[in-house]
Formats: sequence, C-alpha cells, structure tokens
Amino acid sequence: DDADDQLLRVGNLRKEFGGITAVDGASFAVADGSLTGLIGPNGAGKSTTFNCITGIHEPTAGEINFNGEDIAGLAPNAVADRGLVRTFQIARELAEMTVLENLMLAPKRQQGESLYRSVLPTFRNGVIEEETELREAVWESLEFFEIDHLAEDRAGTLSGGQRKLLEMARALMTDPDMLLLDEPFAGVNPTLETKLLDRINQLRDEEGLTFLLVEHDMDIIMEHCDPVIVMHQGRVLAEGPPEEIRNNERVVDAYFGD
Ligand code: ADP
Ligand code: MG
Repeated sequence: DDADDQLLRVGNLRKEFGGITAVDGASFAVADGSLTGLIGPNGAGKSTTFNCITGIHEPTAGEINFNGEDIAGLAPNAVADRGLVRTFQIARELAEMTVLENLMLAPKRQQGESLYRSVLPTFRNGVIEEETELREAVWESLEFFEIDHLAEDRAGTLSGGQRKLLEMARALMTDPDMLLLDEPFAGVNPTLETKLLDRINQLRDEEGLTFLLVEHDMDIIMEHCDPVIVMHQGRVLAEGPPEEIRNNERVVDAYFGD
C-alpha cells in the first residue's frame, strides 16, 4: 500500500480500563476514499478503538495519525475540526427538539479545508457562517436524506431508522473528510437500511468521503466494504478484501471458536 493514500493510521493502539485491556496493540490503516469495514466478535475492542480515534477516550498508548497529523489524545471537537467525525445517538435534550433544529444546532467545523462538496453545494465554500446559508445547507441535507417531510417533527418521535438518517445528517453538518459509523443499521428496517447504504456509497463515490464502518451484518460488510479489517481480543487478526476475509480460517475461528 502507498502510505500517501492512507488517511488514517493507527499504530500499536492500547486502551486499558483499570485491569481490562480493551485494545491490545491494534494497528491498521484506512485508505483515503475507501469504505473500510471493521468487524470482530463482541468485545473485540471495535467501539473502544473508535472512541480512542475520535477523542472520547485517551489511549493508554499508541499512535493515531490523521491526514498526516498526530491526533492521539486530542479532544473530540479538535478531532472533528480536523475532519474526522463519528455519529452519535441523539441525546435526550436533542430528542425534544425538531429535526430541523437538530441540524441547525449541529457542531460546525472550525478550521481546515472541506473536501466534500457537490452533493451539498452550499458547503462548497467550507465553513458556514451565515444563518441563511446554514438554513440552506440544512434543507439540502434534509432532502439528501429524504427526511425533509419530518423537519418539524421532534427528533424523539422518529423511528429507529429515521433517527439513524438524522444522526448521519447531523454528523455530516460538521463537513468531515472521514466518518466513523458504529453499527449504523441497528434497529433499521430494510428500506431505510438500503437508503443509508446508498447515501454512504454516494458520498464516497461523488465526494471522496472516507468511511470506517463497524457492522455485525456480514452480508452488508461483504457487499459494500473493501478492505475488511478483523479485530479479535483487542488486536487486528486479519485484513484484506472481503472474499479473502470470508474464507480466512483464523477469522472463522475467532467467531465460532473457543
Ligand atoms: P466491541 O465494540 O468490539 O464489542 P468494546 O470496545 O465495546 O468491543 O469492548 C472491548 C472490551 O472493553 C470489552 O471487554 C468491554 O467490556 C471493555 N470495555 C469497553 N468500554 C469499557 C469501559 N468504559 N470500562 C470498562 N471496560 C470497558
Ligand atoms: Mg461495539
């Protein structure tokens, strides 16, 4: 692999919680513009890895490099300002607000260049400053995710799948270069799941957005992700194209062994 193509590099990442080692020296890289899958049995350390990358947890040790910059230990907003964002469940306060308000109030990127710009033209100039411009961008996003008819509904009244669309729309308001998605299809019906996957693929193909996707549904991973990284017991067990991962004996053992 050409190191220049790698947007995110994680080296020997470790995270301990008291006596528990959640991540035990994980190393991997994510190529710019890829839709990379991250899989592994429950407790493998996937979510903790995400939390370390996005600044929710401070790593115990290891390197995290994004876009050529060391970001290990930075606060979540500092990581987001650099263009690396994860989706969040809509918190209780936000559930009381409308879908429109949720997007209006989404954090905005404070610095850096934007990369993502023909699907949502208002973003082309980078950071949004004007209220009217913001409002326009929000409506573009609502239409892009086909939730514009829900604009005035309180977020808490949305179905599980609609909420996932809103969560992704909200994360995209930050104008990221890379999005981390942790089981974004949990509780989502097949129609909305297809819609979310279409949007992810569209953002990648047309905008060059990079995705790292944790997902337990193997069919989704195998159909959409390349490469696929497999974590087991806090480490990277395997990495490769989906067809290779599917037939990897160590991967099968990790899921069905011991
Ligand atoms: P995955 O997302 O792959 O299912 P996690 O990263 O959630 O795995 O968890 C990895 C391990 O770390 C598990 O054993 C889990 O119980 C533990 N763990 C995760 N978060 C915490 C925490 N905040 N405090 C203590 N242990 C944790
Ligand atoms: Mg998890």
